Amino acid sequence: MEDNRTFLTRPYLPPLEEFLPYLSEIWESRQLTNGGPFHQQFEEKLRDHLGVGHVSLFANGTLALMTALQALRITGEVITTPYTFAATTHALLWNGIKPVFVDIRRDTCNLDEELVEAAITPRTTAILPVHCYGQPCAGGRLQEIADTYGLKLIYDAAHAFGVTVDGRSLLAQGDLAMLSFHATKVFNTFEGGAIVCHDLKLKQRIDYLKNFGFADEVTVVAPGINGKMNEFQAALGLLQLEHVDQAIAARMAIDRRYRQALAEVSGMECLPAIDGVRRNGGYFPVLVGPDYPLSRDQLYDRLRQWQIHVRRYFFPLISDLPMYRGIASAAPANLPVATSIARQILCLPIYPDLDPPTVDRIIDIISSP
Ligand SMILES: *Cc1c(COP(=O)(O)O)cnc(C)c1O
Repeated sequence: MEDNRTFLTRPYLPPLEEFLPYLSEIWESRQLTNGGPFHQQFEEKLRDHLGVGHVSLFANGTLALMTALQALRITGEVITTPYTFAATTHALLWNGIKPVFVDIRRDTCNLDEELVEAAITPRTTAILPVHCYGQPCAGGRLQEIADTYGLKLIYDAAHAFGVTVDGRSLLAQGDLAMLSFHATKVFNTFEGGAIVCHDLKLKQRIDYLKNFGFADEVTVVAPGINGKMNEFQAALGLLQLEHVDQAIAARMAIDRRYRQALAEVSGMECLPAIDGVRRNGGYFPVLVGPDYPLSRDQLYDRLRQWQIHVRRYFFPLISDLPMYRGIASAAPANLPVATSIARQILCLPIYPDLDPPTVDRIIDIISSP
């Protein structure tokens, strides 16, 4: 039976025959992991592609973030957003750090920089914002606050692959940025991740930490973890780099189609595109407002009836999960914007080979529900 369902995303893969030569090389060399030749090449090519200082590859984004917090010796409290994927805040708990939630801005769904200062206490050591949907945080202002209070600035940039602001990589901001190459992301290596940083000594420490703390055969400098990316992932990453610009262009064509058509639908709001930002089309979020004939959840169900499996990203808020809701800053009264957006948000399907007739069908259903 044919599967007619459309999902939020469908992982992009290059043609299989292009990957086979890489596999042959791995089978021949028997270098499967531990910083083999593909790992080294991918790290360099990725650095050049992104136009950043240094890259350290990881088995996945969550391990990268956990290691980033260790590398910068973050302790105490960290100011972060409730409007994100669970991994952002879980990485804090795994490091024994207390998350302090600050509300978001309605126009970007990112941490509201003007509310950050009021949340700083003597125990605060860092700010951990997320470039939600690849929309840039207010980097200049956040850096200013971090500098004033002597805080580290760590970005969860899992959604921000390839995003630039005035021609400069978004990943160049802050002390470091974490990337995810999970199957559902704009750029994937099945699973994978990276830390981008600008200081060679910091990269060195990150590289020790992701390899159990080994500095050489007999020297262990820190209680590290196994966060290494393997040769299969790195080889796929090398090949994906050749295709990713085209994949992003295909996503952005869908973004334009949705944006243009949904502007006509009353009660339906798209997040504004920001001047000077090259986006990556990773997500297509819409806000289902009170003027729309259906509630967000009714529209979610209606689309499902038509085999369109959209997602409520991000709902529920992280601050509402059982392991966080006891924290004072997790109270909904402290997070009114995030609470309201989580009730209105819907992410529509977007991926490189989503065909225009399906996009039009989704638009039709939303236009006349
Ligand atoms: C995907 C994602 C992560 C986790 O990355 P993994 O590679 O899946 O471990 C973290 N933060 C955000 C915002 C994400 O979307």
